[in-house]
Amino acid sequence: MSKALRSVKGTRDLLPPQTAVWNAVEEIARRVFTSYGYGEIRTPVLESTDLFVRGVGESTDIVGKEMYTFADRKGRSLSLRPEATAAIGRAFVEHNLQELPLPVRLYCIGPFFRYERPQKGRYRQFFQIDAELLGDPGPHSDVEVILMLLRFLRELGLERLVVLINTVGDEASRLAYRAALVSYLEPYKDQLGEDSRRRLESNPLRILDSKAPAERQLLEGAPNLHDHLSPESREHFEQVLALLERFEVELEVAPQLVRGLDYYTRTVFEIVSQGLGSQDAIVGAGRYDRLIGDLGGPPTEAIGFAIGQDRLIDVLPESFRAAATASSPAMLIPIGDQAQVEGLALAERLRQAGIVVIAELSGRSVRSALKQANRRGARHAILLGEDEIARGEVTFRDLESGEQLALSTDDLVQRLKEST
Ligand code: AMP
Repeated sequence: MSKALRSVKGTRDLLPPQTAVWNAVEEIARRVFTSYGYGEIRTPVLESTDLFVRGVGESTDIVGKEMYTFADRKGRSLSLRPEATAAIGRAFVEHNLQELPLPVRLYCIGPFFRYERPQKGRYRQFFQIDAELLGDPGPHSDVEVILMLLRFLRELGLERLVVLINTVGDEASRLAYRAALVSYLEPYKDQLGEDSRRRLESNPLRILDSKAPAERQLLEGAPNLHDHLSPESREHFEQVLALLERFEVELEVAPQLVRGLDYYTRTVFEIVSQGLGSQDAIVGAGRYDRLIGDLGGPPTEAIGFAIGQDRLIDVLPESFRAAATASSPAMLIPIGDQAQVEGLALAERLRQAGIVVIAELSGRSVRSALKQANRRGARHAILLGEDEIARGEVTFRDLESGEQLALSTDDLVQRLKEST
């Protein structure tokens, strides 16, 4: 026997009934986002590498070490998309979406790829539910985006959601802060780890994300970005906070939150779900007022979020999972050769009436077919033998109560409809 092949490291198969939970989450996302005027965008999984180098930033971990990048047969450098925003930005520019009434509201659901060390909740192919509002400087758009996100998460039954929010300022604020941070850290350069030393030159703000205890201690005395905000950035942030307070959103201002992508400006936020034993962010989000311009489009302020669908599914309440996977099909069991064909025809008729029915196709004994019905979680069995066919009836059995009775096909349809 040859050796069985396995899925690629960091990727996984999603099987039923788990996929029913994924579909239920996606349906709710579509419904909630549509109710805010969002339309779906589907961009290719493949993009030119240059898009992410320009959009996400060369010095970010994503572009620096996590992309699946390869040359195609003509030697063009392509990458599997590691995130959605840059691709949506490209599509916005490519299709002149700025000519539509602004803001343009788009959402996207699909797989993304990052070469990361696989662990629980972290995969090399993972899924995001992403939404972007393009063409409005805020602050009301910041607030609408957060309210939409919370509405969606609450509809999934998630509670105790905390929005960790910060501002990384506009271009001017960031330049001023960057200089202050570098001159603070420079004398301690020898105490920094290798990554942070590199970032001191390439992307010093990312050092604030460091988890190394020694660096964390050092950062306690670091200058605060909030002291370097331009008046406009400060006002924007204060307005966002005040508006969110009005909607009683549970907020935590997190001055160290800078997020790992270069394109963020002003508002950035993450959402964590407390009390679920997981402090990992399930959502990463922020404003990106320069990206569309950087990608060759007209200056267009925008904000968006990315929900990690894999992690989201992990923290869903059990009740949601149970409701999404509950199924109680009827099992149709033909007895004898003639009944096989009649059985297929009856099953078609039931489906036409909107009933979920699984047909027993193998001609196995009634006893073993009933066992199978139980294993499949069927609530009802419909037995169809030659006698029943002659009388234009079926034998209907409630598998929970054991009740059994003869029904005409019309009554059968009625009865099954009532019980679903
Ligand atoms: P980011 O695009 O890095 O801002 O990530 C947004 C969200 O996507 C995170 O909060 C995670 O929930 C999720 N995410 C990012 N990378 C991965 C991964 N490798 N595996 C699973 N989920 C991920």
